[in-house]
Amino acid sequence: MKYLGAHVSAAGVENAPLNANKIGATAFALFTKNQRQWVANPLTAESIAAFKINCEKFGFQPHQILPHDSYLINLGHPEKSALQKSREAFLDEIQRCEQLGLDRLNFHPGSHLNQISEEQCLATISESINLTLKQTKGVTAVIENTAGQGTNLGFSFYQLKKIIDHVDDKSRVGVCIDTCHAYSAGYDIKTKAGFEKVFQEFEEVLGFGYLKGMHINDSKKELGSRVDRHDSLGKGTLGFEVFECIMNDSRFDGIPLILETPNEEIWADEIQLLKQMQK
Ligand SMILES: [Zn+2]
Ligand SMILES: [Zn+2]
Repeated sequence: MKYLGAHVSAAGVENAPLNANKIGATAFALFTKNQRQWVANPLTAESIAAFKINCEKFGFQPHQILPHDSYLINLGHPEKSALQKSREAFLDEIQRCEQLGLDRLNFHPGSHLNQISEEQCLATISESINLTLKQTKGVTAVIENTAGQGTNLGFSFYQLKKIIDHVDDKSRVGVCIDTCHAYSAGYDIKTKAGFEKVFQEFEEVLGFGYLKGMHINDSKKELGSRVDRHDSLGKGTLGFEVFECIMNDSRFDGIPLILETPNEEIWADEIQLLKQMQK
């Protein structure tokens, strides 16, 4: 079963399942707080209850939902006080997922800011995950691969593996692969042959057991550009073949497949298009 959706607006978390249903989605992503602010009011009991009721009403179970954390958080921050601030915000994000009955949180691993080595930054990210998991229950930390823009880490499967290697509870860590980021980071998934090769490497380095979600985006930039610019499906440098491969590969069953494409007016069409790719 393929679960398809988009990162929908959640001004009031309880509206996210409604917005997802409107575009014919069977999955969705959301921010549980304003993604550009450090501090948010706690979720109200009414909002939590309404979210759960709406998810049930429209048939969204936790494994069809991929919440995303704030863009401000850097779990590998080289400076102590800034790292602490990120860790506190991340804990709050995981706790919000717990309250909403969600089972995973998608986040960008972190950046070394040219102040510490890659190795140190990856170890710091693992430690941040460990500290958070110890204080929470039932939510898996889902690390997203990045395009490798600036000093962002997590752009190779090996870096993601290094983070996971130092996580104590392997049952509560996973990854989300973004097709645009992978291509920008130099993984040539554009053709069927390339796709097979890259995901064989993924299986060897990480393993599909860790795959807890996908971001389904075309890219405005070329292979290996290390620049993160999403495009609508088929409009960018990736084209359609990679998405046909995903839609016809059972290794991508049972997880949220989320559009983060720039034109939300056509999300419903993009979902239909993906469905029609299934042979
Ligand atoms: Zn993404
Ligand atoms: Zn991106």
